[in-house]
Amino acid sequence: MQDLGIDIPDQFEFMGQQWQIRPGTSRELGEDLGQCSYDERTVYLNPAYPTQTIVQALFHEIVHCWEMTLNMHLTEDQVDNLATSMIHWIKANPEFIAVLITEQELDQ
Ligand SMILES: [Zn+2]
Repeated sequence: MQDLGIDIPDQFEFMGQQWQIRPGTSRELGEDLGQCSYDERTVYLNPAYPTQTIVQALFHEIVHCWEMTLNMHLTEDQVDNLATSMIHWIKANPEFIAVLITEQELDQ
């Protein structure tokens, strides 16, 4: 997704549902960093912010996708803490992602 100044995939799959990721307009987002629309299965990100902020917003909105899909009713603070934890975990422990990918390959 070049509009955001960073190469973010423009879609993802969660629990059998296809989601879109796209830049939001200032009319859609105002000052918000991002938005997660369950009805539209779309994550909007605000391109007006620096790359690091957009990445944080991306994972924040992905956690919203999880909690909305699973009816978890998390608070904004809980969503934000989970997003920060996920980013930290993946960066610090990429070998755990490899475990899941290997497991998936073994299943096929
Ligand atoms: Zn939020």
